[in-house]
Amino acid sequence: MLLTGDRPTGKLHIGHYVGSLKNRVAMQNAGTYDPYIMIADKQAFTDNARDPEKIHNSLLEVALDYLAVGIDPAKSTIFVQTAVPELSELTEYFLNLVSVARLQRNPTVKTEIQQKGFGESIPAGFFVYPVSQAADIALFKGQVVPVGEDQEPMLEQTREIVRTFNRYYNTDILVEPEGVFPPKGQGRIPGLDGVKMSKSLGNAIYLSDTEDDLWQKIKSMYTDPAHIRVEDPGHIEGNMVFTYLDIFDTDTEKVAALKAQYQAGGLGDMKIKKYLFEVLNNELQPIRERRAEFAQDREGVLQMLKDGSEKARAEAQKTMHAVREAMGIAYW
Ligand code: ATP
Ligand code: MG
Repeated sequence: MLLTGDRPTGKLHIGHYVGSLKNRVAMQNAGTYDPYIMIADKQAFTDNARDPEKIHNSLLEVALDYLAVGIDPAKSTIFVQTAVPELSELTEYFLNLVSVARLQRNPTVKTEIQQKGFGESIPAGFFVYPVSQAADIALFKGQVVPVGEDQEPMLEQTREIVRTFNRYYNTDILVEPEGVFPPKGQGRIPGLDGVKMSKSLGNAIYLSDTEDDLWQKIKSMYTDPAHIRVEDPGHIEGNMVFTYLDIFDTDTEKVAALKAQYQAGGLGDMKIKKYLFEVLNNELQPIRERRAEFAQDREGVLQMLKDGSEKARAEAQKTMHAVREAMGIAYW
């Protein structure tokens, strides 16, 4: 099976789109794997426990983003994490298969702890979220997991836990997952400020941004502070406009020519920003339009999530039963 998901901590952004959503839609349409797509509301609480409203409100927004990019409920089971309590049960067993020292070494969690400014008050649930993620993947026997680069340590951790589980309980019911990552350079899209684009950092271009939002964000984008007059030679390294053109413009020859002209001098920031706007808007416009259509039927979207969650839970219960049998706790 295929398992992946997103936290309902805001709307989805173009980092999600190139980092994971595109691969999911392609794999869904190829039909090789049975895809399960999870909205990870339980995980969202690990660093948003005080903000249930954000999580509640983001659930439907994430579902709308899925539908807008082409995740099709007829082909992919979209479900809500808290609707499958077996995931919490498996997490609890998995917590015994990993050491605190091993969890402390996770580089993505280390970075996030810094970014979130937890200091000495790291929520215990946040610290162990890679274990709960391992349970998500293992319970759905996820063989393939389309995700961005920041998730590589989570997959490694999942493989280790699965191996330990199978060894301790002398079984082969759980499957070691493989990550499916986007093409090189697209697995960690920087945000408007240059650090990883993230819903929680307020540095994102959202799939649902209006044309005007998009233009305002591009207009204020960081370029090259030394590039003052049009005729000045400019730098393209660390220049977000060129970073995004490299990712989103399929016309690589044109981008190369623009870069050469910018470096030589004679190409103004406004001009390249307008060009980037066109490129991004061409990609986002159909998504925005489909999203607006689905948003007219919020009840229907909620029902779709309920149906998907019921199907996912039935599947999870089957595996959970096999887990209990392997652990010798299926007493009757
Ligand atoms: P949060 O700030 O709440 O953690 P997020 O923006 O990091 O939100 P997640 O829900 O944590 O988003 O991640 C969902 C998926 O999107 C993961 O597979 C992750 O690797 C991918 N992803 C997130 N941000 C990026 C990015 N900037 N570039 C590429 N992929 C990304
Ligand atoms: Mg994240």
